[in-house]
Amino acid sequence: MLACTLLDTEFKNEVASRPGGEKVKNCYLCGTCTAGCPVSSLYSEYNPRRFMRMILLGMKEEVLSSPEIWQCSQCHICVAHCPQDVRFADIVRVLRQMAVEEGYAPESMLKEIENIDIELRKQRISKVKELTIKVNAQKELNDQGDL
Ligand code: SF4
Ligand code: SF4
Repeated sequence: MLACTLLDTEFKNEVASRPGGEKVKNCYLCGTCTAGCPVSSLYSEYNPRRFMRMILLGMKEEVLSSPEIWQCSQCHICVAHCPQDVRFADIVRVLRQMAVEEGYAPESMLKEIENIDIELRKQRISKVKELTIKVNAQKELNDQGDL
């Protein structure tokens, strides 16, 4: 059960008015984002579907003050799987920006998290490149074996 102090019915519209948050109201709370999220699989308290529900209900203070909005690794798996193209990873970025603007987190924290996100993306790209080279090399060997 979600506990809350005050509902702000404009919260979802605020999120929707920002770049990255446009599709927030498309969510029908299916939970596919949570099911595929690597952070959720490690920390059960991190739950994208629950965040979506809180946003749609208007639980602005609870969402923006939540330490969990800083746990997303921006891997975008939730974006790839969402049947409604909600783009939860982009919504997290909107929430972080709002949290900084409204005094729930210092600007330095946003900068720090962005640097971590950039670093993680670089590492992911580099790993995918390595994997692609290995797969292509194996394919070449297999092709030669077929000759
Ligand atoms: S964001 Fe997408 S995947 Fe997540 S609950 Fe909403 S509709 Fe489902
Ligand atoms: S972008 Fe964030 S919420 Fe989405 S799957 Fe990755 S860690 Fe989970």
